[in-house]
Amino acid sequence: MHEMSLAEGVLRLLDEQAAAQRFERVLTIWLEIGELSTVDPESLRFCLEAIKKDTLAAGAKLEIIRTPGQAFCMDCGKPVRVAQRYDSCPECGGGSLQVTGGEEMRVKELEVE
Ligand SMILES: [Zn+2]
Repeated sequence: MHEMSLAEGVLRLLDEQAAAQRFERVLTIWLEIGELSTVDPESLRFCLEAIKKDTLAAGAKLEIIRTPGQAFCMDCGKPVRVAQRYDSCPECGGGSLQVTGGEEMRVKELEVE
């Protein structure tokens, strides 16, 4: 389950930010998870809940934002939306899609005090 190491990564990032920006508590975490990423939002939420007590994010609310999968079709030359990595082009049915977005996971914003 790689969500646990991702959750640990998020907490590490919060620690670094807290040191750099001098805050003591995190109130809300906005986490962007691309639809094409391999991260399961609910298990990530579960992992974070499990390890965030006794950290500066103990009382933090987690807001998950799904970013859409985007690709560029090499066959018809159009940017298209895809729900899955190996989908074919919704415009022309071609199979030469180059994924251009929606693969990443990142902390978008923090509400802190
Ligand atoms: Zn196409």
